Amino acid sequence: MRLILFGPPGAGKGTQALFIKEKYNVEHISTGDVLREAVKNETEVGLLAKSYMDKGELVPDEVVIEIINQKLSTLNGKGFMLDGFPRTLAQANALNNVLKNNDLEIDVVILLEVDDEEVVKRIMNRQKIENRNDDSEDVVRNRLNVYRDQTSPLKDFYSKLNLLKEIDGMGEISEISNRIERELDKLI
Ligand code: AMP
Repeated sequence: MRLILFGPPGAGKGTQALFIKEKYNVEHISTGDVLREAVKNETEVGLLAKSYMDKGELVPDEVVIEIINQKLSTLNGKGFMLDGFPRTLAQANALNNVLKNNDLEIDVVILLEVDDEEVVKRIMNRQKIENRNDDSEDVVRNRLNVYRDQTSPLKDFYSKLNLLKEIDGMGEISEISNRIERELDKLI
């Protein structure tokens, strides 16, 4: 199975990604995780990415596209789930090209829908636990604006490709997992 998980910051992508990875045995590729690791290790990419991430802005397309190219080239046919990528139309087009060159197709794009106030509430809770630099309230509001302006056009993009499945991301974690499971089981 090859899928994309997308939705606003705080929609529960990371949490549901763990469930999907276990249940469907797919490789979990999170550009946010790769970038945070690079920041921690102070690599060249990390130093560049940090200035964008701290403000809640998107890291330049070519940086994340290169990360995805590298990750996809190591999979040897294993299924995968992209979490937090693509986030712009340029990234989605680049992904389509890489997939085409490797004779691969995405099976489904799962969109987790959560309203803005719930997002802010969830992220404020997460900050108490994980203490992420980009989880302060003003940065979260900016991340929501960035999502609305740059990422939400992907709904149309994937809807036109007949790949989009919108899942209600409000409620208990297990309920949301069940909703995702019902969609993914249809593909098996
Ligand atoms: P996430 O963990 O997915 O919420 O990502 C945290 C931050 O990493 C984002 O706010 C961006 O600054 C950066 N980032 C992660 N994925 C991407 C992407 N696909 N394109 C651009 N920036 C990204």
